[in-house]
Amino acid sequence: MTDFKIVVCMKVVPKPEEIRVDPETRRLERSQVRSEFNPPDMNALEMALRLKDLYNARVIILSMGPAFFEPYLRIGLAMGADEAFLLSDRRFAGADTLATTYTLAKGIEKLGHPDLIICGEESSDGATGQVPPGLAEWLGIPQITLVTDIEMDLEQRVVRGRREVRGGHEMLEVPTPAVISVKTASNEPRFMDYEIKDKAFKQTKIGVWSCEDIEADEGYIGVPGSPTIVTGFEQATIRERKREFLPGARDEVVRRLLESIQDYL
Ligand SMILES: Cc1cc2nc3c(=O)[nH]c(=O)nc-3n(C[C@H](O)[C@H](O)[C@H](O)COP(=O)(O)OP(=O)(O)OC[C@H]3O[C@@H](n4cnc5c(N)ncnc54)[C@H](O)[C@@H]3O)c2cc1C
Repeated sequence: MTDFKIVVCMKVVPKPEEIRVDPETRRLERSQVRSEFNPPDMNALEMALRLKDLYNARVIILSMGPAFFEPYLRIGLAMGADEAFLLSDRRFAGADTLATTYTLAKGIEKLGHPDLIICGEESSDGATGQVPPGLAEWLGIPQITLVTDIEMDLEQRVVRGRREVRGGHEMLEVPTPAVISVKTASNEPRFMDYEIKDKAFKQTKIGVWSCEDIEADEGYIGVPGSPTIVTGFEQATIRERKREFLPGARDEVVRRLLESIQDYL
């Protein structure tokens, strides 16, 4: 294994169809719903594992959340990641993106000096897309967001990211260490490797770190570190679609259809 080290930030999210908001606290109600890995984070992990295949890199999964995230991290280990760490402490709860990125950045610092930090483009629950840029800011390193592919130049210590733009694509190059966010569905995540699955689920130890472990300042984590306030929320009203059946023979239907369309022109 080389000393090329990649941290992949992975979040466990409620399945989108089961997301509920607690009307009292205005927070996502996570305890009653089934969860999954945030789908774009599977693309982020796949991108890291491809670099592992190419350069024998060390791939480390990092997540922040409650203890029930742990079995999900084992899925990532069974896909081929080398290690997984969970930042879990009651004091991290209620974090907005500022506090989340601070906490993750402290975890990344504790992991040593990774060459790349790879994230999904956004989560399917919070969906702000602010975490990757926030990490780059806290860590004081460059970022390339929304890439569909990357290539490394380990000698020059640069990473090039390909980003699709209207009518083509652009290549962006930054020095490493850098933060990358990966466009959703830009690759096909691999299945778990059944030869390592048993070890991943039964033997591999997942590091669980508290506020003290990452030497975080309590003023920057959880609720005290979160200046965002949810002042209210509303259920989106879905307008009923208009629908009309046009009976009759084909020519008659066409004539009536044209008449109906003309009303909207
Ligand atoms: C106004 C507001 C209030 C909120 N209140 C609460 C609350 O009370 N309680 C609560 O639990 N949450 C709350 N959240 C959600 C919480 O702030 C977000 O889950 C968190 O900040 C990450 O933001 P995001 O989901 O938008 O991530 P994005 O920026 O959309 O995620 C991009 C990528 O960053 C990485 N990433 C994001 N989160 C994590 C993570 N936890 N671990 C590892 N990698 C990660 C992943 O790679 C992900 O694909 C709130 C969010 C908002 C906007």
